[in-house]
Amino acid sequence: MLFSKSFIPILKNIPSEAKIKSHQLMLRTGMIKQSSAGIYSWLPLGFKVMKKIEQIVREEQDNIGVQEILMPTIQSAEIWKESGRYKDYGEEMLRIKDRQGRDMLYGPTNEELVTDIFRSSIKSYKSLPQLLYHIQWKFRDELRPRFGIMRCREFYMKDAYSFDLNDDEALFSYNKFFLSYLKTFKRLNLSAIPMAADTGPIGGNLSHEFIILADTGESKIYTDKRVFNVDSDQTKIEKNSLANLRKEFEKFYSVTDEKYSEKEFNNKVPEEFRLKTKGIEVGHIFYFGDKYSKPMNSSVDYNGKKEFVKMGSYGVGVSRLVGAIIEAKYDEKKEIMKWPQSISPYDCAIIPFLNKGNKKNLDKAVNISKKLRENNIDFIIDDTEENFSSKLKKFNLIGIPSQIIIGNKTEGDNFEFIKIGENPEISNLDKIIKLINQSKKN
Ligand code: ATP
Ligand code: MG
Repeated sequence: MLFSKSFIPILKNIPSEAKIKSHQLMLRTGMIKQSSAGIYSWLPLGFKVMKKIEQIVREEQDNIGVQEILMPTIQSAEIWKESGRYKDYGEEMLRIKDRQGRDMLYGPTNEELVTDIFRSSIKSYKSLPQLLYHIQWKFRDELRPRFGIMRCREFYMKDAYSFDLNDDEALFSYNKFFLSYLKTFKRLNLSAIPMAADTGPIGGNLSHEFIILADTGESKIYTDKRVFNVDSDQTKIEKNSLANLRKEFEKFYSVTDEKYSEKEFNNKVPEEFRLKTKGIEVGHIFYFGDKYSKPMNSSVDYNGKKEFVKMGSYGVGVSRLVGAIIEAKYDEKKEIMKWPQSISPYDCAIIPFLNKGNKKNLDKAVNISKKLRENNIDFIIDDTEENFSSKLKKFNLIGIPSQIIIGNKTEGDNFEFIKIGENPEISNLDKIIKLINQSKKN
């Protein structure tokens, strides 16, 4: 891709409406464009990052045996009337009438729809567990949309649902997601802590929010610092091992606002480990038993007996994660964005000196790019006539992890190579390709 032909509308100044660094950076680097309050278009740079995050989220769902489906964004109100939530959900739900006057809505979540899908086909306990997920746009008419895509009205979510015969099996499913979320956030280079949470309008009694620490977060949290050291690496996808993992976390007091009790916090956490701070909720898991299956009459046959299925639901804010990762990784002072390599918009920027109309350097850039392509390295060539230092600034801001400079220090196959934020080194192209491929594996 040539920069001059790309759709990356970089802004010179920080837009005044943006109050937190992720919103500022996303507008400045043209990742998103607001289309109306709390509703955004995703431009190429932002979309590339979000798709890469989506893929990691997907792989970690697949790894625990969840099956991917795709449900529509528009739902019929009928199933929500069955569950009783049509009234309860209130003004956050966007309600629509079709031309026949039927009540429809833009889905804020999918418990009803997935229960309807399940009950139409699954009749026997022998088909359990069923674990289903989809990655789809949601709409919630938030009272105060703000912070760009962090709290917006239309957002992209992975939501999964589990169906089991009894509580014991259902908790096994819950714990699979618990582990899978730890793995997902780890792959995104985030330290996300599971915190006991309230179940809110979803209902039920067991719930964890996965929270990353950030001053700009909207969740207040109260935690025992030792929870950060719990290690999940050796956990197997097997009942006892998963139950033990959750116990390891639950040893330490870690709760969100709604669950907080000062007395309990002070009693359970020695003073030196107490941490009261703020965080961003990037995932949320719930167990709610037969809350939906009962009113929606979703049951299986168990040796001649009718059993309502026990359900859980599991959400990850895929679009919110783009902002959350920026909050965690953007160095505001140096203006350097360090994406985890696996989700950076491009692997490599090729930056030829072109000030004096030096077309030779551009030809060299194109030659290099052919080799990068052969090695599956995704690149962008800066063919603009901007001065060199503002080019470097631009790629630091966008967060391209590897940068190849073609200028007066270039000799034959040797180029200046920069790892974002570090000093340049002279290397030959083969070595550069090796270095880039190595960092892609990390
Ligand atoms: P919040 O407390 O932030 O409103 P929630 O508890 O309502 O979140 P869930 O219903 O659990 O959210 O949705 C699952 C995930 O979807 C959340 O963990 C969050 O990452 C994301 N999410 C929820 N609401 C929004 C929103 N308005 N904008 C962007 N992402 C959102
Ligand atoms: Mg909410």
